[in-house]
Amino acid sequence: MIVRHLLVGFVLATGACTSGAPPLRTVIAAPVESACSTPAARLSFDFEGASFSRCVIEGDREFSVLVTPEHQLPINPSPWYAFRYDASEGGDLTVHLRYVVGEHRYAPSWSDGTSARQLDVEVSDDRKIATVVLPAGQATVSAQEIFDDAQYRKAMARWAKASRGKLLTLGQSHGGRGIGAVRMGRTNALRLVVLIGRQHPPEVTGAIAMEAFVDRIAEMMAGDPQFTDEYQFLIVPQVNPDGVAHGNWRANLGGTDLNRDWGNFSQPETQAVRDWLDALPEGVRPVLMLDFHSTFRNLFYVQGDEASEQEKQFLAAWLGGKEAAFPAYPFTIERRNANPGSGTTKNWFHQTYAIPAYTYEAADDADRAGTREAARALATALPEALEALNR
Ligand SMILES: [Zn+2]
Repeated sequence: MIVRHLLVGFVLATGACTSGAPPLRTVIAAPVESACSTPAARLSFDFEGASFSRCVIEGDREFSVLVTPEHQLPINPSPWYAFRYDASEGGDLTVHLRYVVGEHRYAPSWSDGTSARQLDVEVSDDRKIATVVLPAGQATVSAQEIFDDAQYRKAMARWAKASRGKLLTLGQSHGGRGIGAVRMGRTNALRLVVLIGRQHPPEVTGAIAMEAFVDRIAEMMAGDPQFTDEYQFLIVPQVNPDGVAHGNWRANLGGTDLNRDWGNFSQPETQAVRDWLDALPEGVRPVLMLDFHSTFRNLFYVQGDEASEQEKQFLAAWLGGKEAAFPAYPFTIERRNANPGSGTTKNWFHQTYAIPAYTYEAADDADRAGTREAARALATALPEALEALNR
């Protein structure tokens, strides 16, 4: 009886009852957004950045979230989760994050729209379960702060305005989202600095570093005519907008790690950036590429002994000796030669243009204010360091 009632509900919900019931298989295969409701609480995944997760009702005020990646293994273990909840007064809500793949990595960020904080979890079962206790009310809980398309739009508008730069759309993602960019400086300035971000959706601290870095670059582009005469910037802060919107761990909607697609260019997102570079006017060429990411600690992946003398001088001028200069953002410099065919942005830019091409990695748990402060200081130091490439 219950089963039949449910099936009638599904058929009505598809609106298919006008011409007789469709085959049962079709009805069941229709995608259903996961959500869990009890008289006391509701948990859902119905917003941009929400994770691709299922929930399970464990009790009136107790749910589980099944944390799963967007595609089959192997996948980098960046287990993104993000949900919102609404719990009535009368007790806390307990949520168990159950890792179907991988293990607990990111401490939960809690936000009710006006205040935000990080929550403690109780980790159990060899880190396969993390339990978080949530206060009554309405809030969002996510693996890192939500840094979504709305925030990118705001940041890009701010950068374009401050630098008197231009907003561009380089192309379209798999899912039809624009690959937004900002171009700063004179379009005939010969030296182009390329800044790339968010190839990997969960890597929010890289996005935080990039935002502060570009805010400072935009200020300098407005205030230093010599800098703007010589240099222009292409800023592509969100290369994987579908992955960010869908709460992916790693890939775009083509199931591809974009930071392994440079060289192959099998995906519309990487193609959009390459096509734009290919159309640059004669004489204008990239001189530096920075690609912002997150990992377990603060570091820069740079060229190894494949670096030219000039590239080594740039590194020494920009990052050398600064590893402990920012007390809230200590970092290391990791020298790695290109692994042929690896398809990373770093290697492709270095091999294609013979320029310094670095991966800027901020720690998952990096102090946020310290991350911004260091990024700002490193941006301030960039114009002088770039001169090392002209000698
Ligand atoms: Zn990454």
